Amino acid sequence: MSEAPEWLMQGLAHAPVFDDLIGQQHAIEELSLAVAASHGDPGVPGAAMTHAWLFTGPAGSGRSVAARAFAAALQCADRGCGHCSHCRTVAAHTHSDVRAVIPEGLTISVKEMRQVVQLAARSPAAGRYQIVLIEDADRLTEGASNALLKAVEEPAEHTVFLLCAPSTHPDDVSVTIRSRCRVVGLRTPSAPAIADVLARRDGVDPETAHWAASVAAGHVGRARRLARDEQAREQRRQVLALPTSLASVADVFEQSAELLARAKGEASSMSQTRDAAEIEELKTALGAGGTGKGAVGAARGSAGVVKEMERRQKSRATRTERDVLDRALVDLSGFYRDVLARSLGSTAPLLNPDMPGQVDAVAKRLGPDGALAAVDAVLACREAIELNVKPQIAIEAMVMALFAGGQRRRSA
Ligand SMILES: [Zn+2]
Repeated sequence: MSEAPEWLMQGLAHAPVFDDLIGQQHAIEELSLAVAASHGDPGVPGAAMTHAWLFTGPAGSGRSVAARAFAAALQCADRGCGHCSHCRTVAAHTHSDVRAVIPEGLTISVKEMRQVVQLAARSPAAGRYQIVLIEDADRLTEGASNALLKAVEEPAEHTVFLLCAPSTHPDDVSVTIRSRCRVVGLRTPSAPAIADVLARRDGVDPETAHWAASVAAGHVGRARRLARDEQAREQRRQVLALPTSLASVADVFEQSAELLARAKGEASSMSQTRDAAEIEELKTALGAGGTGKGAVGAARGSAGVVKEMERRQKSRATRTERDVLDRALVDLSGFYRDVLARSLGSTAPLLNPDMPGQVDAVAKRLGPDGALAAVDAVLACREAIELNVKPQIAIEAMVMALFAGGQRRRSA
């Protein structure tokens, strides 16, 4: 029998790499069992390990965190010690046998998928497996999905596929791919669990941790940003000022324009920093600024490469803008959920405990029917943007509905 790793001997519940998975004990147990099976531990059924996994769960529940931790645990000789070179390079996205497909644009292309599938069929270079990690499997194009399906159906011996998607719904993952994968469902972690991690691991003071965990509605990354970043807090305040700033039709258009402009501004500052660094890096790699023989020809060839990168960056910027806008809408829907709860007389803790005054004021104005209609309007807007309706049109329709809801009640 092989020597048991130290963390197991100490009676800890799981390998250190799984520490970042908050409130997902059942998933950790299943994944730990799979790792044990991959080592052929006596008493563990071999079928506990398989070559294709699908991690599902709502945004922020930690799908990609879980997949990455599992990848590290599979590569690590000590089953996920958290400090060896396998564990560290998997976490840093630089492990030579873990290929991550992270869509930069709105979809993952066939070309990209074919390349990955080809590389994944090779034998592992340093680790125990060749691992392909697809963070947003729901963003695969049909062609890319087919390219992947072929590889999942006829897997190479040492290849493991880890897919992440919001759910097992056919809109997210094709039925055929889903049928080849073992599904690991993640839950929305509770606010106390998130607060605990922010305080314990990130050193956030308990009061801020509690507040951030509460307003982030189960989204760990969002809670962390709110706890640490004053700019993120300020943006949230501005978004949540909207429900109390709609007195006239003119306000509708002004508030819509501001909401869009803020999202655009935040997204573009995120994109610019990232883009400039990438282009600089690329130009250095291509030897731009050279004056020697052949530098002119090289510069011509590299112009194409730079163009290609700029095209990808543009596509990514569009996605960033939508993500930022969607986050604002999530905040807004949380606010109206509080309004609905209060208008129904509920005394349950608010999602936004720092703005009871605003919540009560809007609840008084809208009443339960109006609050419900407001929640619906925000959700409809998110859906419309998801379905590629122009954000300006979707946002204006939503804000108009929010304004009209307040007016109806007033005149009733
Ligand atoms: Zn390790």
